[in-house]
Amino acid sequence: MPIPRTLLDLEADVARDLALTAHPRAPWLVPKTSGGTPVLDCLVIGGGQCGLAVGFALKRDRVDNLLVIDRAAHGREGPWVTYARMHNLRSLKDQTGPDLKTPSLTYQAWHEAQFGQAHFAAMRWIPKELWNDYLLWFRRVAGVPVRNGVTAGRIGPARTDDGLPCLSVETSAGPMLARKVVMATGQEGVGRTWMPEFVAALPKALRAHAWDEIDFAALRGKVVAVLGAGASAFDNAAVALEAGAAEVHLFCRRADPMVVQPYRWLTFAGFLRHLHEMPDAWRWRFMAKILGMREGFAQDTYDRANRFANFTMHIGRPWTGARAEGGRAVLETARGDFAADFAICGTGVRMDPALVPELAGCADNIALWRDRYDPPPEEANERLAMFPYLGPESAFLEKRAGETPWIRDIHLFGIGTSMSFGPAGSSINAMSISAPRVAAGITRGLFEADLPRLWADLEAYAVPQVVLDEAKLAAE
Ligand SMILES: Cc1cc2nc3c(=O)[nH]c(=O)nc-3n(C[C@H](O)[C@H](O)[C@H](O)COP(=O)(O)OP(=O)(O)OC[C@H]3O[C@@H](n4cnc5c(N)ncnc54)[C@H](O)[C@@H]3O)c2cc1C
Repeated sequence: MPIPRTLLDLEADVARDLALTAHPRAPWLVPKTSGGTPVLDCLVIGGGQCGLAVGFALKRDRVDNLLVIDRAAHGREGPWVTYARMHNLRSLKDQTGPDLKTPSLTYQAWHEAQFGQAHFAAMRWIPKELWNDYLLWFRRVAGVPVRNGVTAGRIGPARTDDGLPCLSVETSAGPMLARKVVMATGQEGVGRTWMPEFVAALPKALRAHAWDEIDFAALRGKVVAVLGAGASAFDNAAVALEAGAAEVHLFCRRADPMVVQPYRWLTFAGFLRHLHEMPDAWRWRFMAKILGMREGFAQDTYDRANRFANFTMHIGRPWTGARAEGGRAVLETARGDFAADFAICGTGVRMDPALVPELAGCADNIALWRDRYDPPPEEANERLAMFPYLGPESAFLEKRAGETPWIRDIHLFGIGTSMSFGPAGSSINAMSISAPRVAAGITRGLFEADLPRLWADLEAYAVPQVVLDEAKLAAE
């Protein structure tokens, strides 16, 4: 099949594909106000890939009164050109993602239109900067309305002028009202980046999290210790080596480093689409195993660090404590202390709604997995028990019914959904299945709340489709 010659040709294809698949076209929501102020049907907080994907899915369902906000400047959303230190994405280059399976909107179509089919075929992995450029293009041609430079704060309950529940969101641009809110706020969306308390207690000049801003030039000639053996830990080790660190030592808890990628295993339709419908015991068992394995590092990631002679990987040697001594970080391990000039923790995130400003008005009443499911002792895991226990619409559920019923209108789309839905929020491989599902959860709630209005609409419905021949109508 001939491929578009230029990006402009491709954009014409996109417009045609969107028009050809626009059914059902009918608008079905009516604008609301609250105290005279307009109310959005949906406010999406976060314009990274999840926010864009769910925004696109909602637009397809004619939720047009929609806004996506992001605190980052245009082009700086998400990790890709900010704190991600890898060269390439881990995801396979031909996966569908925010395009929601619209061929002309896929990464491959965008890449081939600019660089040609042969270039795409020869490319092994997608460079992260190209993925960022693609997301910006996607958002423009898919028509997802994004306002940058706006930070969301506390969410609370409100009412529309016709008595429906809605939400009020404090933002840096003033309060915003919306019937539904999606939190697509990324890795820290329901918690924070995490490092062991004893490392966090070291002076800031001696330690950082792998996703922090780090002055790598200042590590030239220094000894750097990295904790963790996931992709981010290796990426940070590699950047320190490339910046001229004298030695980089990576400490891995396991005696056998993780060389498989469980996210590869789970990338099939059954798992991605249906895990959330399965009993808690199975959801817990699968996700505890997968999240317990952590995301392994890729061969390129490993090679990038390992090609340096001054790189050492210490296996089976976790840090058990740390102290600052003589301007250095002394890291304690069962096999003796290790002194470094700087320590970097590639230790991911922990869920804790109490730390999230948007959830300040309800964090204490958000149901977590620990409130709803007791795993068998051999499967117990305190870290995973802190994940929110979400309803089928990907919305928060109450721990104590009736105290904050409005949280049912806050939907989550991000890594925090992992225990309830599988990898549905955080990774590209699940997005074409998960974004429409989150959108469906939103449209379901909007539809349900509008039932009386829709019933009145139907009763008043009088658009004739047939012109009767009055002359041949015989009234008995
Ligand atoms: C280093 C790294 C590499 C990764 N590589 C891959 C990969 O190769 N393949 C893969 O499938 N997954 C990968 N992931 C996992 C996942 O795909 C990414 O984390 C991805 O960015 C998740 O998208 P998101 O939209 O949930 O979050 P993000 O892309 O982080 O977007 C969240 C957005 O929310 C905004 N925001 C947050 N709070 C607020 C607020 N209060 N108000 C306004 N805006 C707010 C942020 O500015 C941000 O732009 C990687 C993750 C990391 C950290």
